[in-house]
Amino acid sequence: MKKLAKWLGLPLLAVFLLAACGTGKESPDNSGSGDKLKVVTSFTIIADMVRQIGGDYVEVHNLVPSGTDPHEYEPLPNDIKAATDADVLFYNGLNLEGGDKGWFKKLTDSVHQKDGNIFNLTEHVKPMYLAGEDGRDEEMNPHAFIDPGVGIKMAEDITAVLKEKHPTDSDKIAAKGEEYINRLKELDKEYEERIQDIPEENRTLVTSERAFQYMASHYGLKEAFIWEIDTEENGSPKQIKDLVGFIKDHDVPVLFVESNVDTRPMETVSKETGVPIAEKPIYSDEIGDPGAAIDTYIKYLNYNIDLIHEELSKQR
Ligand SMILES: [Zn+2]
Repeated sequence: MKKLAKWLGLPLLAVFLLAACGTGKESPDNSGSGDKLKVVTSFTIIADMVRQIGGDYVEVHNLVPSGTDPHEYEPLPNDIKAATDADVLFYNGLNLEGGDKGWFKKLTDSVHQKDGNIFNLTEHVKPMYLAGEDGRDEEMNPHAFIDPGVGIKMAEDITAVLKEKHPTDSDKIAAKGEEYINRLKELDKEYEERIQDIPEENRTLVTSERAFQYMASHYGLKEAFIWEIDTEENGSPKQIKDLVGFIKDHDVPVLFVESNVDTRPMETVSKETGVPIAEKPIYSDEIGDPGAAIDTYIKYLNYNIDLIHEELSKQR
């Protein structure tokens, strides 16, 4: 969100104009050829959901790659071309992509995409808010997708859109969508059962970023964290002191560190409290590239609940 000024920089604008002039005006006529739907997604988790549901009927171009912060992103020339040519564009919303002034809105505006092709996948999700500390306004927490209950709603919306935009194969897309949604519903039940199985006094999830708010509140975990969101200051002495204070007042069996954050602030918390760090990282903002150990949303949800259940149930 702090990089907006750069986005307006001339070099990128020039690249966009070139891309638009070179390829943007090709014939939009793709009638009756059984073409794949060209889909653009804002980040890795949505890309995987669309591939799972759309199968052979979609061709997905994902924007923010693994290892890159989805809160702030500068589209590359091939992203701009894909956004120009896309039949459908999916984004998370809840300010994950920077909201009304963010990089995704700038991108779709700059390529003159039609509103009817652009879909916010958290339209049916009730926002939760990050605390407005130090004079900041309250901010929506974008990390709803960590909660499989929200994943179900996102998958339902993706299925409905793909069916509508690819009417010739809408039956097959509907069937794949239903199968996928049923797997998420099973996972939702599993989250409920396994979190209830953790000794009550251990049900506190401590992470670096406050990313697990929706999931924790849905399934009855307390949450604690060092910083509210990755785009703010991460791991200041005051933030660390506050969490250390919380841990001294509560039973906290273990600390979790996300796969995509600097581990040092949590190591400091661990040293100051004597509470150990979980043996494996927890996943929040991303999944890995295809072929990586955690390369689908289903694997990501499975992995996280296995890790949470195991670490919070351990006798220490
Ligand atoms: Zn995040």
